[in-house]
Amino acid sequence: MKVMVAEKYGFCAGVRNAISTAEKVLAERGRVYSLGPIIHNSDVVERLAKKGLITVDNVEQIPQGATALIRSHGAASEEIARLKEKNADIVDATCVLVKRVQQIAAQMEQEGYRVVIVGDREHPEVRAVVGCTRNAVVVGDASDTGKIGDNGRLGVVCQTTQSPEFFGRLLAAIAIGGFNEMRVINTLCKEAIKRQQAAVDLCRKVNTMFVLGGLESANTKKLAELCKKYNNRTFHLQNWDEFDKKVVLGCETAGVTAGASTPQWIIDDFVKKLAEV
Ligand code: SF4
Repeated sequence: MKVMVAEKYGFCAGVRNAISTAEKVLAERGRVYSLGPIIHNSDVVERLAKKGLITVDNVEQIPQGATALIRSHGAASEEIARLKEKNADIVDATCVLVKRVQQIAAQMEQEGYRVVIVGDREHPEVRAVVGCTRNAVVVGDASDTGKIGDNGRLGVVCQTTQSPEFFGRLLAAIAIGGFNEMRVINTLCKEAIKRQQAAVDLCRKVNTMFVLGGLESANTKKLAELCKKYNNRTFHLQNWDEFDKKVVLGCETAGVTAGASTPQWIIDDFVKKLAEV
């Protein structure tokens, strides 16, 4: 099987920073609490768990005075305040681009804008941005625009890992509401966009396309969704264990890409084994 790999794929700067921060602090302290999975990749989470990283769902599960790691998706201001009350030693690995969205949203709210976040309301990054404001509304599809209300001044940002098409489509849906002012700040991550473009370029050239990454990873899901549009033989897998030979029957070429939270060893292993099929 001829296997081609996308020009841009895998770990981004934000994820790399979160993992190296976790490794450094684990080496110094041995036991660290992560507020939610450090990244959406179970292989990485398991590997760091063996080094002492304990993943918890909420602040209340973190003991008084413990070391608390804020993952690349960030945390809400309320959670940070609660950690401070518990005298936690906070190690902040929030990606700078995610931090920027939080700061822009808070600033626009202070300036009197009704903050609108375009994205998936269940995603931790979006929940953290919402938590940095008093009254933001999340728009995940056109039907959500009714929730915006009649405030004449909107300040709009987007979840970093969404695609420009998604952002544009929902901006158009919001604009139909006829607001007096719509201030839009482009908060999409360029790293994620480059991966999306490279994935689409590649999936058009191959018989079958594989997108590797965690099933919860927003940027990986977005890659798979885009590739499916152009190549209906697209498969989102976590690793080689999920590969089924039947899906490449009769195929001569396969493409591989991976989300920003997929480690290189998973990609290398997959590409090597696929080439031998
Ligand atoms: S995908 Fe972009 S925004 Fe998300 S962690 Fe990576 S660099 Fe940061």
